[in-house]
Amino acid sequence: MSAIDLKSRVREVPDFPTPGIGFKDITPLLLDPDALRQSVHELAEWTAEREPDLVLGAEARGFWLGAAVACKVGCGFVPARRPGKLPPDTVSASYALEYGENALEVNKHTIAEGARVVIHDDVLATGGTVEAIAGLVEKLGGHVVGVNFVIELSFLNGRERLAEHDVFSLITY
Ligand code: AMP
Repeated sequence: MSAIDLKSRVREVPDFPTPGIGFKDITPLLLDPDALRQSVHELAEWTAEREPDLVLGAEARGFWLGAAVACKVGCGFVPARRPGKLPPDTVSASYALEYGENALEVNKHTIAEGARVVIHDDVLATGGTVEAIAGLVEKLGGHVVGVNFVIELSFLNGRERLAEHDVFSLITY
């Protein structure tokens, strides 16, 4: 079977959640079993080459494919969650959004000293989310051996912000 053009399975929603934002909705991709399988397969192939101990997914849309990729690669999965969602003990990182601040937390016992970690999220926009998570992984003594995304918004230059990392995305705008 020939490969699906995954971009055709992304719904573009203008002015959501705020005016001026072109929201990339991957619901059609998730609904299509072949597109879903292909996405997990391609992400898992790239991830496996980095020989990770863990895939770390960012709340919430990084959970959708992150755990599936970890399962296919045969490694564990760690969630990075919004403050107050994970029980103790956690480490936390704050980062700037377009307006205001956000924070994510990771259980500090999930990443062992020297663990090889691939970070996954649905969309790479400015790179702030993954930059903050990578800082948490490194604070706990882990090594970020790769970061991957379903979608990269290249016009926001997130890849430059993540220049020290090995970056992969399935779909580029
Ligand atoms: P950033 O930290 O700027 O790279 O933003 C990435 C996070 O914001 C991801 O967790 C995405 O889910 C979300 N995000 C940012 N921009 C968009 C967009 N245009 N469409 C969908 N999600 C987005």
